[in-house]
Amino acid sequence: MNLETVLTVTHYSDSLFSFTTTRSPEIRPFKAGQFTMIGMADDDVLRAYSIASAPSEDSLEFLSIKVAGGPLTERLQHIQPGDQIEVGDRPTGTLIIDNLTPAKRLWCVATGTGLAPFLSIVRDPATFEKFDEVIVTHTVRTVSELAYRDLLSDLPITYYPTVTREAFETPGRITERMQTGALWSDLDVSPWSPDTDRIMICGSPAFNQELRNQLSDAGFTHGTNRAAGEFVQERAFVMQRVDD
Ligand SMILES: Cc1cc2nc3c(=O)[nH]c(=O)nc-3n(C[C@H](O)[C@H](O)[C@H](O)COP(=O)(O)OP(=O)(O)OC[C@H]3O[C@@H](n4cnc5c(N)ncnc54)[C@H](O)[C@@H]3O)c2cc1C
Repeated sequence: MNLETVLTVTHYSDSLFSFTTTRSPEIRPFKAGQFTMIGMADDDVLRAYSIASAPSEDSLEFLSIKVAGGPLTERLQHIQPGDQIEVGDRPTGTLIIDNLTPAKRLWCVATGTGLAPFLSIVRDPATFEKFDEVIVTHTVRTVSELAYRDLLSDLPITYYPTVTREAFETPGRITERMQTGALWSDLDVSPWSPDTDRIMICGSPAFNQELRNQLSDAGFTHGTNRAAGEFVQERAFVMQRVDD
C-alpha cells in the first residue's frame, strides 16, 4: 500500500461521491477497467476500488458508494483535500478491452458505482482504436446519482442513462428497456449480436448474473485473460441491486 494525498472530493448524493488523489511512481501502470485496494491511513480496513481515471493521467480518481455503517465508507466519505489515504500499488482485474475480440461496437453497461471502470475505459484512446462506436449505459435510482453526466455527454460516445426511482426521459432498468425494445429503438441499433457487439458489464451480482445468462443464451462467450471473448464482467464487484 502507498500513501496518496486527496486532491479533490465531489459529493453527488447521500450515497455517492468521487475523489481524486496523487499518483506516486510506486503505483504500477494499470489498464483501463482495473481495480486496486483503498484504505484509510490509520486502520487496516481495505476495500477494492475500480480506478476511474485514464491510465495516462497524473492523478488517480475513484467513484464511491457511502454505506451507512460500512467499515470503510463510513469514514472515507468524510475525506477532504490534503488528507492521506492508502492506495494499493498493484492494480489488477479482468474488465479490460484486451479480453474482448475486435468488433464494430463496444457496450459498457453499468449500474451505480459500476460506472467507475468505464470512466477509465472511455477516457483511454486505446478504446477508440479498437472499436468504431462506444455506448455507455448507466442505471441509477435517482437523477442526482447520474455522476459524470456532463463528461459522458461531451465524449465521442453514446451515453444512455436510465433512472429507476424518479421520473426521467428513459426510466427503468436497462434490462427492462432491452426486453421492451426501447433501448434498441431509442439508439436506432439492432439488438446485441456476437458479430457486431462486445459487452462489458459492471453492476450488482444479480444484474451481472442476469446479463451473463442472457448473453450466454445468445451465443456470446465470456472473455478472460487467457482467451478473449465477446463479453466481460468483473465478477468480484459487490453492489446492491438498483431496484432494491
Ligand atoms: C473488484 C471490486 C471493485 C469495486 N469497485 C468499487 C468502486 O469503484 N466503487 C465503490 O464504491 N465500491 C467498489 N467496490 C465495493 C467496495 O470494495 C466496498 O464494498 C465499498 O467501498 C463499501 O465498503 P464498506 O467497507 O464501507 O462496506 P462493505 O462492508 O464493503 O459493504 C457493505 C454492504 O454495502 C453494499 N455495497 C458495497 N459496495 C457497494 C457499492 N459499490 N454499491 C452499492 N452497494 C454496495 C453491499 O450490500 C455490502 O454488503 C468494489 C468491489 C470489488 C470486489
